[in-house]
Amino acid sequence: MWSGTKVICVIGDPIDHSLSPRMHNAAFKYLGLNYVYVPFRVLKADLKYAVKGIRALNIRGFNVTIPHKVSIMKFLDEVDSTALKIGSVNTVVNEDGKLLGYNTDGLGFSEALREEGINLEGKKVVLIGAGGASRAVSFYLAGVCSKLTILNRTRSKAVKLAGELTGLGCKVCGKGLTTKSLEKELADCDLLVNTTSVGMYPNVGESPVPRNFLRKDLVVFDIVYNPLETLLLSYAREIGAKVVDGVGMLVNQGAIGFKMWTGVEAPKEIMKREVIDSLLGRG
Ligand code: NAP
Repeated sequence: MWSGTKVICVIGDPIDHSLSPRMHNAAFKYLGLNYVYVPFRVLKADLKYAVKGIRALNIRGFNVTIPHKVSIMKFLDEVDSTALKIGSVNTVVNEDGKLLGYNTDGLGFSEALREEGINLEGKKVVLIGAGGASRAVSFYLAGVCSKLTILNRTRSKAVKLAGELTGLGCKVCGKGLTTKSLEKELADCDLLVNTTSVGMYPNVGESPVPRNFLRKDLVVFDIVYNPLETLLLSYAREIGAKVVDGVGMLVNQGAIGFKMWTGVEAPKEIMKREVIDSLLGRG
């Protein structure tokens, strides 16, 4: 840091686990950019004051994480149309005092698929989960695949989300997540995406899908990135299916914010290495 350092931050509660400070600071250092990325724990009741502080200090931009992704929207000057549809904001840019909100999760997911050479045209996708991340991912998927089935523990959320996606291009349906629905839907699908938190640290011994429902010709994308290889991904890899972990999505959603704040293309390989080192407890 030196004179004129621009500040980016992430606000959430808890915030200690966030990989974003390390990922972005490594990128700033690598490119020699005079920016710094700082984590701030912000309690729910303090969100309004935190945003006032961000404005007063002229912080250039910030990420938003649990529990503020929805509630932040009312404190911003503008929210882009994708974030409005998804119903949450994870990235904010401060343009001359105007706070503009975006959701980069869907784009991060699509870019991770592109990097893996996965084309969804004419393909059938099963998406497990109907929470915040699922909403971002499903608005993207509904525009590119031919059939999208959303399975969620709370059935009503899957049905509601499927209703919102109708008309975006593909056939969509929402159902409860049961052994029966999983077995039926996975029998003829091309891509399985897990957007539930099942299998996430510390519950690393859990998988949202039993091993015997997976097939070799399936692509399995688990957006959970901690651990790097979830139990679901290890089942899929053992069977010989193509696997995609959550790190690519995490890095790509971060890279989109990085470009918005700095105007510079993000060094994604550096960011990815930093995330992996962090997850493996290195450095
Ligand atoms: P969220 O809004 O809280 O949604 C959680 C989802 O998981 C809901 O659909 C919930 O079902 C389901 N779920 C939770 N426990 C379950 C269980 N025991 N059995 C079946 N379903 C269960 O969380 P989120 O923000 O969407 O995040 C979900 C996961 O995605 C987290 O692990 C997060 O770290 C990861 N993520 C990764 C990235 C990335 O860049 N790779 C980005 C965003 C999120 P109900 O609706 O029934 O409660």
